[in-house]
Amino acid sequence: MADSSAPKLRTIEDLGNLTGKRVLVRVDFNVPLEKGAVADDLRITASLPTLRELREAGAVLILATHLGRPKGKPSDELKLEPVRARLQELGGFEVRPLGGDEVGRAARDLGEGDVGMLENLRFHPGEESNDPAFAADLASLAESYVGDAFGAAHRAHASVVGVPQRLPSAAGRLMQKEIEVLSRLLEGPQAPFVAILGGAKVSDKLGVVDALVERVDALLIGGAMAFSFLAAQGAETGDSLVEEERLDDVRRSLKRADERGVPIVLPEDVVAATEISADARKETVPADHVPQGMKGLDIGPRTVEEFARILSDARTVFWNGPMGVFELEPFALGTRGVAQAVAGISAFTVVGGGDSVAAIRKLGFEDRVDHLSTGGGASLEFLEGKTLPGVAVLMEDADG
Ligand code: ADP
Ligand code: MG
Repeated sequence: MADSSAPKLRTIEDLGNLTGKRVLVRVDFNVPLEKGAVADDLRITASLPTLRELREAGAVLILATHLGRPKGKPSDELKLEPVRARLQELGGFEVRPLGGDEVGRAARDLGEGDVGMLENLRFHPGEESNDPAFAADLASLAESYVGDAFGAAHRAHASVVGVPQRLPSAAGRLMQKEIEVLSRLLEGPQAPFVAILGGAKVSDKLGVVDALVERVDALLIGGAMAFSFLAAQGAETGDSLVEEERLDDVRRSLKRADERGVPIVLPEDVVAATEISADARKETVPADHVPQGMKGLDIGPRTVEEFARILSDARTVFWNGPMGVFELEPFALGTRGVAQAVAGISAFTVVGGGDSVAAIRKLGFEDRVDHLSTGGGASLEFLEGKTLPGVAVLMEDADG
């Protein structure tokens, strides 16, 4: 399917000489905060190559990102100060806050290689609605645009599509890398290609299940979503999370997988507990016999072994979503076991999704996977074959 006539991303080179040029760089610094500090800086470090390269080219950088969901109104907890401070620390360059009514003037005061950062884009209602006036205001701050916010590329927001439609625009290095890596999963991945899906909601992931069934050699399913698959096959799931209204869709996916001869591998055993709490009574039970009054909260040890066995033969792996409630130690073994298995094989391995990426990083396996995607939802939509608006606008045949 690799097609040489397929549209390509415009890249930084396509913007020409950037010396002294003001460049609006849309980054995705939507990072988790804990007690007012950045709890995980992957998304910041991931954009540093783009920022360094633009600074070295003598550009004037105006960074823009959203943080959290302030719903179009300013919110003290979601101000970007902690993010700005961390970027400054990690990057080793000054990052000036550009706020208030003097944004335009402040942006014009910056010189070659200087970096300024706008306040949280989502404090403005025009960001999410892609309001033309807001997009035009943002565009007026700069002469060029670089899109590096892969994690936001599935959103048709002002800073993601409205601005690049109004300025010469190109993808940043992180955006390029994400698209390159994820495209490798779509275009001729080495077989066996094994995907592992987990996480909370089956309805969020049925689209990607269906897309992956067409491409993979095996699909391993854990996390809460496994219980909808188990229930669809008539298992007793106790009080586990089951999305009844999606069971017909699940059955359809199972049938399609069966037609294609692709095994959908479900847990054989699960760790169940009376409630989602670290000190609830827990028990390892057969996955199709979760007792009434108990919820399945992790995959069991036999399942971990089976998943690891299947993974050991894989040449290409994609993993999204934790295998259990890994935030609580008693239910973290499944996620840890899968992380270990993914880190231990020599296959081409890609991990996407905030929680699964966090699990890999927490275990110190970051360097043992080929790519940690900075976009959970965006990576899933890409693998579903959907057009991401924030990518389409940076393609060679698009406007901007
Ligand atoms: P990701 O961020 O990796 O894409 P999701 O956001 O879809 O993953 O899901 C992560 C959440 O799913 C975690 O908070 C985890 O506690 C929860 N989860 C996983 N397994 C279960 C389960 N069996 N029951 C309830 N919640 C679960
Ligand atoms: Mg998540």
